[in-house]
Amino acid sequence: MNVREILKENDFVFKKKFGQNFLLDQNVLNNIVNLGNITKNTLVIEIGVGAAALTKKLSEKAKQVLGYEIDLSLKKPLDKILEEYKNVDVIYDDFLNRNIKEDIKKYQYENIMVIANLPYYITTPIISKFINEQIDVEKIIVMVQKEVADRFSAMSGTKSYNSLTIFLNYYFDVKKAFIVSRNVFYPKPNVDSAVVVFNKKQDKIKLNNEPHFFKLVKTAFTQKRKTLKNNLSDYDLNKINSILKTFNKDINERAENITIEEFVKISNELSKTNEKF
Ligand code: SAM
Repeated sequence: MNVREILKENDFVFKKKFGQNFLLDQNVLNNIVNLGNITKNTLVIEIGVGAAALTKKLSEKAKQVLGYEIDLSLKKPLDKILEEYKNVDVIYDDFLNRNIKEDIKKYQYENIMVIANLPYYITTPIISKFINEQIDVEKIIVMVQKEVADRFSAMSGTKSYNSLTIFLNYYFDVKKAFIVSRNVFYPKPNVDSAVVVFNKKQDKIKLNNEPHFFKLVKTAFTQKRKTLKNNLSDYDLNKINSILKTFNKDINERAENITIEEFVKISNELSKTNEKF
């Protein structure tokens, strides 16, 4: 029985609210999977399993695939579709409510890659979740609406500059890989998509104390319209001011005017003297 017949047999109904447009084209599926240099030591986390078109291909390359699917009505068909794929587990839940560290602790692996083909509005929360939960991810491959892909690859621009931009740029190089036509999905969506790849940076800027940096950057952006002087009042403002002076700036700037390198410098200097965080 093919996938369509299995879905039909289980009375599966496509749900717009979950962004259910399933990818059909084998070439596109192969191209996505090949972006990953997945090996038999890789744990792949797939968010939004759908009818498992990608999952099956990932399973052939990876050591283990851990999939998340919010739609419980896909459980019965997926049990059948994935019957032969012994290295695939699916958790039926909203990925955003999961504790990733807990979910992956039973697996042995050398690296983690994330693949997600999802409604665009949960792309940022997904990436933030991996960053906030400090999961060491080598690569994130996401399929998003074409226009959103441009925004992601231009993330270091000023308009959307916030603490996430800084964390993203600290961890990853971001690039748009290719466009995917709306015609290769069922049901067909109204827009074309693009695949964006986040590659873990090989040469990260040297940070003395990552948690300190994270706290500092988050705190600096607490109230976007306020200055560093206001947002960072719990920190040693004199010291911050003298560090910023070396960049011709001062604590009357807003966080959005501070570069990642400047935040790193501030954090490295403050954490030297055990500044509280
Ligand atoms: N990966 C499949 C493919 O490429 O054909 C399905 C892609 S479809 C665009 C998105 C899938 O993500 C749907 O099956 C949907 O039910 C699921 N989904 C949407 N929001 C989710 C969430 N918050 N957590 C887990 N899965 C979600």
